[in-house]
Amino acid sequence: MLQELYHEVIVDHGRHPRNFGVLADATTSQEGFNPLCGDKIILYIRENHGVIEKIKFEGTGCAISMASASLLTEVLSGKNRADAEQLLSDFHQMLIQKSEKCHEKLGKLAILAGVAQYPARVKCATLAWHALAAALNHSIKTVTTEEE
Ligand code: ZN
Repeated sequence: MLQELYHEVIVDHGRHPRNFGVLADATTSQEGFNPLCGDKIILYIRENHGVIEKIKFEGTGCAISMASASLLTEVLSGKNRADAEQLLSDFHQMLIQKSEKCHEKLGKLAILAGVAQYPARVKCATLAWHALAAALNHSIKTVTTEEE
């Protein structure tokens, strides 16, 4: 049941996203788009000597896409590049390979584990993470959850 996905934390973050808005002094920004659901986000990152000092996002979309972006900004604030890459890899393993190994390391992000059962919703949950990966690589084009 899709209802099961809407854990109260997801609903809370979806309705009241944390770190929402433009980051005026961002060093990198990255757009992401999930055409299947219509979710759009822009991730703003202020990086200083390899540390994500501040991270914010703007966007519109379903509760899962907004909640995932919101949780991402909470978890990544203050992390260095290596930590960010590790979280990206663990999050990917949890949702794409449906691995439970990383739940502990992922902390509150493990809330989104149930989404793995719904392939279409996985795109919603991973959108912000696609944008993060592109931002860390200083991509300049809009990333999409659909391969070209
Ligand atoms: Zn969505």
